[in-house]
Amino acid sequence: MAEEWVEQMQNQVNTLEELEKYINVTDDERAAIQTLKTRWGTTPYFASLMDKDDPQCPIRMQVIPSRKEELNEFGMDNYLVWKENRATGEVRPDSIARQYDDRIAFTVVEVCANYCRHCFRKELVVDQDLQLHFDVDEGLQWIADHREIRDVLITGGDPLLLSDDKLEYLVSKLREIPHIEMIRFGSRLPIVLPHRITEGLKKAIGGFHPVPVWVNTQCNHPKEITEMTERAVYALMSCGINVGNQAVLLKGINDDVSTFRELHQKLLRTRIRPYYLFNCEPAPGIDHFRTPVEKGAELIRDALRGHTTGMAQPTYVLATNIGKIPLMPDYYIVGKNEKEYTLRNHKGQLTKTRVIPAN
Ligand SMILES: *Cc1c(COP(=O)(O)O)cnc(C)c1O
Ligand code: SF4
Repeated sequence: MAEEWVEQMQNQVNTLEELEKYINVTDDERAAIQTLKTRWGTTPYFASLMDKDDPQCPIRMQVIPSRKEELNEFGMDNYLVWKENRATGEVRPDSIARQYDDRIAFTVVEVCANYCRHCFRKELVVDQDLQLHFDVDEGLQWIADHREIRDVLITGGDPLLLSDDKLEYLVSKLREIPHIEMIRFGSRLPIVLPHRITEGLKKAIGGFHPVPVWVNTQCNHPKEITEMTERAVYALMSCGINVGNQAVLLKGINDDVSTFRELHQKLLRTRIRPYYLFNCEPAPGIDHFRTPVEKGAELIRDALRGHTTGMAQPTYVLATNIGKIPLMPDYYIVGKNEKEYTLRNHKGQLTKTRVIPAN
């Protein structure tokens, strides 16, 4: 008998007929599914978290295609080629995206359990306009040949959809490379398919080794977290894998103060450490999810910093071809002289503190 997570994948909800078993599909949703040539779908588990009647349900909005994806005013054509520096002088395998000297993103698969409508790698993963060739051994060889690379971020698609054997191979090959100090997986599976965190997976990528493994997941709304998520995260941690979150700021989903705070508090309660909050990127066809760039900093100022546990605060960034650019709020320094700074807190209160002057 197939493992439960494999069955979930075999039964992916990706037809109108299947979707109608979970929700009352609206005319707009039906029209989008019937007209758009786009890959879409989710797991039966994630579909079961959708609100039956509310088309504004945060899970529905991330899963079901929309005609708004046909509009593109603020998106960039050939976005991924620009973003991942695929058209620059350095010759690299398609699987290696590089923005930094010491670390790279290593794409090993282009399938997902949930095809997020806001995906910044949409051209590749969802719309499949961009065809690339991902060869794991070719990527491993490139990493072995580049001694300046210390940190490998394994991505996709969703890399945890690879079999236990393939994952074990990947991790053990990377660990044989003397200059690799850490391995990260970017995976939405703890959220959209927590069944994937099996004993077999724990054996394949967990356990003590001087080269640690981290998992960064993507959770954008408190409704995405269930008891199964809590158990999956605990299972990962129980074998030495730390779990972080990379949320995307999404209009109408998490861009209000109360949802935003609840999301970050619930992540911590689930033992997931908020790592990044991404400004929704200028990939084509996702304008309807994008907020003004200042919004993320405002939310951190108004919902998180000082208002709740400091550990709940992610770094807000705009991802670009030259790296992630931090866009954190800067309201704190109100004035300064040669020996004193005037500082403002989250409530607007002012204080003065003695400082070492800059010279
Ligand atoms: C995000 C990213 C990284 C990792 O950046 P960190 O700030 O270290 O998390 C590395 N390479 C690429 C191409 C990336 O997009
Ligand atoms: S899981 Fe990641 S790669 Fe896959 S569609 Fe969602 S955002 Fe894109």
